Amino acid sequence: MIEMTYPNKDRVGTCTKDCYGSCVFKGIWNDEALEQKLLSAQPLKEHPFTNGFFCPKYKKRESLLYHQKRVKTPLLRIGAKSENNFEKITLEKAFEIITKKLIEIQKKSESTSILGAFYTGNCGLISQYAPLRFFREIGATITNGGICNEGGCAGLTELFGTYSTTNPFQLINPSTRLIVIWGSNLSETNNHAYYLVKQALKRGTKVVVIDSRRTPIAKKADLFLHIFPGTDHLLVKMVLNKLVANKIYDELFLNDNVDSYSSIFLEVAKVEKVKLLEQIGIKIQTFQNFVDFLFKFKHQTLFNIGYGVQKDFHGGRIVKSIALIQILLGNIGKPGTGLIYSQSDFLKPLLQPLQDYITSIKKRPKMKEIPIIELGSALLSGTYKMLIVYNFNPASSLPNQNLLRTALMNDDLFIIVLDMFLNETTKYANIVIPAKFDLESHDIISPFYIPGLSINIGGPCPYQDCVSNYEFFQQLALKMGYDDKVFQESEESIFKNCLKMLPLKIQESIDKLGYYLLFDFDSVPFNNLKFPTSNNQIQAKGPHFKFGENELKRKFSNKINEFLLISPSHFYFLHSQLGQVNIRYLDEFSKIFLTPEDIEALGLKTGDKVLVSNEYYTGVYILAELPILKHGTALIYSGLSSTLKENLNVNHFTPDKPEELGFSGAYNSTLVKITEIKSKYT
Ligand code: SF4
Repeated sequence: MIEMTYPNKDRVGTCTKDCYGSCVFKGIWNDEALEQKLLSAQPLKEHPFTNGFFCPKYKKRESLLYHQKRVKTPLLRIGAKSENNFEKITLEKAFEIITKKLIEIQKKSESTSILGAFYTGNCGLISQYAPLRFFREIGATITNGGICNEGGCAGLTELFGTYSTTNPFQLINPSTRLIVIWGSNLSETNNHAYYLVKQALKRGTKVVVIDSRRTPIAKKADLFLHIFPGTDHLLVKMVLNKLVANKIYDELFLNDNVDSYSSIFLEVAKVEKVKLLEQIGIKIQTFQNFVDFLFKFKHQTLFNIGYGVQKDFHGGRIVKSIALIQILLGNIGKPGTGLIYSQSDFLKPLLQPLQDYITSIKKRPKMKEIPIIELGSALLSGTYKMLIVYNFNPASSLPNQNLLRTALMNDDLFIIVLDMFLNETTKYANIVIPAKFDLESHDIISPFYIPGLSINIGGPCPYQDCVSNYEFFQQLALKMGYDDKVFQESEESIFKNCLKMLPLKIQESIDKLGYYLLFDFDSVPFNNLKFPTSNNQIQAKGPHFKFGENELKRKFSNKINEFLLISPSHFYFLHSQLGQVNIRYLDEFSKIFLTPEDIEALGLKTGDKVLVSNEYYTGVYILAELPILKHGTALIYSGLSSTLKENLNVNHFTPDKPEELGFSGAYNSTLVKITEIKSKYT
């Protein structure tokens, strides 16, 4: 047989994962190949943040697209919930079952008892928001809010009227002489910013790292403050006390730009230094060195704050307090200064019209919404009869898994999950719909670290039953007999219309490069120091430090077998994704990590089986050493994506009580007890 060869085709792509990178790449496709249509993805060298490399997690995305475990046909449950036990059905049959169920629910209950739950598993605007056309039409309830950085965003917004104030390319601005990396494990979670920081280090910029883990960037830093988790605001209080006592603050800046700043002075006038240093867990000299750096590099200091800092009941206030250091020093609105956190607010005015069009919001009444963090308790109430999940793996990502999984077990709750792979949530699904990968759909992506826009030009999917989120809900709407013309639009036409709504210079940039960046290296947002607040000034009305006393007391109760639990993502995993290609690391999720000294103090050794328990759950884990931790801290990696490890998920232990300002997940506000396993568990 003569084998035909076809020319390869290039398509611009963007990694749509919920990640700082939003890497832009060139996808090389062979559209005629029977299966392996995406040949490779080459990260763009010319993109100033992607810089020609992916993270180690996603070097081989083409192997995921055609993975043997990808769900390629719709699946119908056989047997009880809690196992991935299905039979294959046709897409037509799936639609028939779902429409019948929807009509039945509408007859017996309110339409609001149909609940759409989605998050950022795919950050594309169309992928996330186009399904809302369907939910709006049917009058369903949807989830809102988030479980990630919303606490910090809310805290910063109280100060500045926005949480986005700084151009992250300031990391390599020559005016930046000191970078303070506060609670951000750049080398593992934001390796493109890490690359920029390494460039700055080479140029002689000083780096201070403040973290509860001795991360790789901490090892490269000029100064490392190894603090106990959740004590960041105590450190801030001490720093502010020192700045005020030594008159290192910027009085002119404060007078001109900061409303009610005197409240800060009053609150930090007196501090119990010895007690605070003990609670924070650093030596006086380390603290003094930090203050000396801040003094020396006043007006030349940039802060980069990570999201782990705010995964606390008071996370928003903690992030807000960190910002006060930069405010008191006048390190705002000048080259080489500022606060990098989430930059997504910069793009909102540009994106809102697109989002309104994608969701078709103007045409219909507002939908009922529930906070995503409360999904478990909402479902447990019995109000909801159908749950449709996309871009989301709640049975892995949400806290208080016991509660959530109890709710998902309810046989009266009909669950539909759209996903590329079977996962923890599909274990509870009645029907699984095979979803397309991001690269197989047209979409627009708006990064949250380097603000801008980029696109995915969808390549062909070899599996005929796989559908994008929009395609699924569009077809479902048509099967339900909805004749609104919004359901006649193809995904490609939504994509093209969105691009047409953008200013011409953005369209041209996307057309030419595949992306648009809001800032160049030198841009300094808010250099006029006018913020979107009631009087354009920074709002510093207190109190700033009156919170968290009880939690701190609990944390420092000094029980030898009680540990503060933190649950970062594993280096090779992205939330609950990538288990299929990184299967060799799955054992890491069966371990609970402590410092070698803490293991010794427990009278145990590495490799021992232990019982880990708190008010939410009890599970068996293997003890392992992690010297980079702080004494009294335990770590279990989050995001076990495999269905192989029964019930091992750190979110069995995490609280569903949300962070108080932005209602995000307070994942790090929990303690666990570690006890030796008695014979019945071995
Ligand atoms: S996961 Fe993040 S760093 Fe990795 S390729 Fe995707 S966007 Fe880039």
